[in-house]
Amino acid sequence: MAEFDVDLFVIGGGSGGVRAARIAANYGARVMVAEEYRMGGTCVIRGCVPKKLFVIGSHVHDEIEDAAGFGWRIGQVSFDWATLVANKDKEIARLEAAYTTNVEKSGAKIVKTRAVLEDAHTLRLATGEKVTAKYILIASGGAPNHGPAVPGIEHVISSNEAFHLKELPKRIVIQGGGYIALEFAGIFNGYGSDVTVIYRGDNILRGFDEDVRKHVRAEMEKKGITIITGCTVTKVDKHGRDFTTHLSGGSSIGSDQVMFAIGRHPNVSGLGLEAAGVAINPANGGIQVDAWSKTSVDNIYAVGDVTHRTNLTPVAIREGHAFADTVFGKRQVAVDHATIPTAVFSQPEVGTVGLTEEEARAQFSHVDIYKTDFRPIKATMSGRDTRVLMKLVVDGVSDRVLGCHIVGDCAAEITQAVAIAVKMKATKADFDATVALHPTASEELVTMRTPTARHVRQAAE
Ligand code: FAD
Ligand code: NDP
Repeated sequence: MAEFDVDLFVIGGGSGGVRAARIAANYGARVMVAEEYRMGGTCVIRGCVPKKLFVIGSHVHDEIEDAAGFGWRIGQVSFDWATLVANKDKEIARLEAAYTTNVEKSGAKIVKTRAVLEDAHTLRLATGEKVTAKYILIASGGAPNHGPAVPGIEHVISSNEAFHLKELPKRIVIQGGGYIALEFAGIFNGYGSDVTVIYRGDNILRGFDEDVRKHVRAEMEKKGITIITGCTVTKVDKHGRDFTTHLSGGSSIGSDQVMFAIGRHPNVSGLGLEAAGVAINPANGGIQVDAWSKTSVDNIYAVGDVTHRTNLTPVAIREGHAFADTVFGKRQVAVDHATIPTAVFSQPEVGTVGLTEEEARAQFSHVDIYKTDFRPIKATMSGRDTRVLMKLVVDGVSDRVLGCHIVGDCAAEITQAVAIAVKMKATKADFDATVALHPTASEELVTMRTPTARHVRQAAE
């Protein structure tokens, strides 16, 4: 009789857990996956996928407006929020079923229940059952922060609820200046809501390249999104179906929804981590792991958002895959967390890979900047007041392209391809040697000949 009920028990059927379970099962391991909500996890159920579907639909408004310049006469149009939500739900249900089937096809068993650790080898299921496992993978993801408990916080929604609103809000206040706040600002604005973004710092998208931050803000404001910086929400009052959001500056805003998108925290509480001896990383509140995603306990690993490293789906997937290779595939694989491309699906979209100008200047003595800001070809006929930003950050000594930053249509798609070159350590000369593909916006990336700025750090005396 086997020493343990299973070789691997995975807590969480999201991006990281599902990949790890499938790969481990393919290696012949006996695998059980516990999911307390819906298979697919945040990305599939209430993250990347439904968000992208909402973003795609919200672009149609601009397409209709832009069509007139190309000769189209489009009659009265209308938009039905309930249809959007219902069709999105249908697609998410299809994906959930596909995730379930794929895990089961791999030979892993799914248990639809909450699981917590009782000790380093025992799981307790909400059904009352106990399961012993040789290895345990914690892939429990994260959840929205609500921030300091301001009066009226119970009226505030997070991205979780935003996917299921009964009606499109006519006016919405969104607190936050990161990925989710800006993506939902664009979504609601596109469908016709009056949107106000409240951000505590001096400009949105802290940590992104300064030129990107300025450009996105200006473009979002041109679309009619109000961005109020340097303040926070101090209180939310409800009157009937309406809300008044009070700001730290003393002003207030009326709306019919208030949303906070002020970061997410790793799902570590109530998991039995202490009982099993699993340590938390004091720097970020996530589960502490080494380069192979091993926790402080030898047979327990953790991947994805619960480790609070880089909270992106492809990263969770890689970490899950690398774990399975390392533990069950007899092949030590560590995920390289450097130079991960990322996009904010705001409107306009942001795509970025590598170092910002500010980061490069802190790390390299000579930094050359190639930057262009232009009117896209479509705008010449649509008449839309919009501009695209493309920027390359180059090491002035080795000529290596350290970073690429794009704001504009298809920025994410372009960045995925450019990321290969940046990851391969391509030089600016390699970019220059590549013939332009005309007429595109991204041809600018291979045709910018003259630096717009050259930074040389003086050697310390
Ligand atoms: P999750 O996908 O969160 O999965 C964890 C699962 O564990 C959940 O299903 C949860 O129900 C389950 N669980 C938790 N505790 C237990 C327990 N004790 N027992 C049983 N089950 C449990 N990333 C991108 O790369 N691109 C995007 O465009 C993007 N958009 C996003 C948009 C939004 C609105 C949000 C919120 C996130 C977005 N992300 C995006 C981030 C991405 O969704 C996460 O990084 C990714 O889902 C993390 O995967 P994971 O496996 O770590 O966790
Ligand atoms: P982000 O970390 O991107 O942004 C959080 C924002 O909230 C920041 O502007 C932050 O300000 C602000 N904030 C934090 N705490 C407070 C507070 N107490 N009061 C007021 N404002 C506050 O988190 P999100 O929630 O937008 O998204 C979570 C993560 O999910 C992302 O970081 C990303 O990893 C992932 N994600 C990825 C997406 C993608 O790939 N397209 C899309 C959506 C999510 P400050 O900058 O000053 O700290």
